[in-house]
Amino acid sequence: MSEDVYRFCPLCGTKLEKQELEHEDKQRLGCSECGWIHYINPIPVVVCVAYNSSGEILLVKRKLEPARGTWALPGGFMEVGETTEETGVRELEEETGLEAIPEDLLGIYNQHTDFYGELLIVAHAAKISSGEPVPDGVEISDVRYVDPASPPEVPFPSHLDAIATFNENITI
Ligand SMILES: [Zn+2]
Repeated sequence: MSEDVYRFCPLCGTKLEKQELEHEDKQRLGCSECGWIHYINPIPVVVCVAYNSSGEILLVKRKLEPARGTWALPGGFMEVGETTEETGVRELEEETGLEAIPEDLLGIYNQHTDFYGELLIVAHAAKISSGEPVPDGVEISDVRYVDPASPPEVPFPSHLDAIATFNENITI
């Protein structure tokens, strides 16, 4: 389920109209003036299963939607010019102050959220290298280390799958 975001062309302001594209078997909104086409693509998000030297993983309590007030893996939206590894450790540091070394890819998932639409979630392991976790107070209201074998309730199936894959594959 994806919904059109634009009704008018973001380049020239012309009202968009449904168009049949020659190379695709679907209709998309497009601009009859400048040729801009309203593609709808998932937004890449990176989360990380960040672990300490005791083998505990870090969860953050979300202060923003979706799933405000629940525990989840740290993470956020990829910026242009970043690798997924860089996004994961940058978001970890922004949210908690921890520095980490990115490690293996744990999985790639699709998730729909009412708030952001379709997301492509990339999960990496990350080895925490320094710092004491402190919630940023903006995106995150609390932080805690948990045993990855028995995490608390996490509302995102992708995060749970990434934790399970971490348990199967990463030896501390
Ligand atoms: Zn246009």
